Amino acid sequence: MNKKNQKLIYLDHAATTYLDQTVQKRLKPFERKDYGNPNSMHSAGRRALAAVDCARKQVANFLSCAFQEVVFTSGATESNNLAIRGVIKAYQERGVRRPEIITTKIEHRSVLKTCLDLEKEGIGLKYLPVNSDGMVDPRLLLKLISDSTALVTIMYANNEIGVIEPIRELGKIIKKANGLRKRPIVFHTDAVQAAQYLDCDIDYLQVDLLSLSGHKLHGPKGIGALFVRRGTPIKPVQTGGDQEHGLRAGTLNVAGIIGLGKALELVFESRLENSKKVSRLRDWVIKEISNIPEAKIIGPIQDKRLPNNIYFRIKGILGEDLVFIMDNKFNIAIATGSSCSAGAAEPSTVLLALGLDGRKAKEGIRVTLDQSNTLAELRFFIKALKKTVKEISLD
Ligand code: PMP
Repeated sequence: MNKKNQKLIYLDHAATTYLDQTVQKRLKPFERKDYGNPNSMHSAGRRALAAVDCARKQVANFLSCAFQEVVFTSGATESNNLAIRGVIKAYQERGVRRPEIITTKIEHRSVLKTCLDLEKEGIGLKYLPVNSDGMVDPRLLLKLISDSTALVTIMYANNEIGVIEPIRELGKIIKKANGLRKRPIVFHTDAVQAAQYLDCDIDYLQVDLLSLSGHKLHGPKGIGALFVRRGTPIKPVQTGGDQEHGLRAGTLNVAGIIGLGKALELVFESRLENSKKVSRLRDWVIKEISNIPEAKIIGPIQDKRLPNNIYFRIKGILGEDLVFIMDNKFNIAIATGSSCSAGAAEPSTVLLALGLDGRKAKEGIRVTLDQSNTLAELRFFIKALKKTVKEISLD
């Protein structure tokens, strides 16, 4: 068991995924051959536009939305910023002095930091509480809604602990509340981690805005999309050209868009089969980790958890130490839940929100699978993990 003769075992698919070969083949011609600007009038531009239209249809199919409701962005960070800042701007322009946002403390930083930024500018911010598994209780939402509520933004599935939030139930509550309001509450969900495994039909979910990212589902990096339901009050946040129905200025990333469209088409075709395969592997890993006396699984069980997510902590071992050893000794890529700033690991904000103390919140380990992982790889990982825990505990 040493790194030299061990090929990389990649168990960090929530961070990013490899580019699918079919996707790569499909987008390649648009990098060197068909490189026209889809806004140009000549035939090279029209060819690029036709390809973008085709990808837009693929995204619309994936979401069961209209062609015009898809806005391409540079990734989910931008989609989330556009959704949140864009809705608040629209409300402010309509004369609402202090619009309010409702969110959770376990959102991705592109949502949380955006909300906190807006709070500094005077926007109201409320948090829907999560339980010890990270799950919100939709019934509590009504208590937080006020006349000033402009936006509810709650992720579909969490990027650390994999908890799946009850988006449809929340959407129904918001829809009902909107029936009695002069100005509707807009409902946004960050579906980045969910898209590969869960139903993203926007009418099923009852959302107005939904964010996607290419590189989390075997598409290219630096491309994303925002679904914007027709009639949603939202304004652009960057100025420039009038691309993307005037909502997102900037020359389109044609190759990226082609790649995202194809990747989503492939996900759509294989989602059920992949979910079944990956969740079987996940349950096997969870069972093995549960047998390690120092280990504790964090987050919900089975169907409340993303099929590819395993999250745990080992009592007394910093998450970053384990990641380092797994990488250096065994060539296994896993992740901590903590973010790294100025060289020092910060406790995971998600674990803090679940009620864990600062020390425990630095012990989180995330393992995220993919249909390309094999049982043999996972057996090796478990063996390496047990060996490491034993060695550290003896120190
Ligand atoms: N939301 C979630 C839940 C994510 O996991 C990520 C990526 N870590 C993002 C948003 C940001 O996506 P992107 O890398 O496309 O900006």
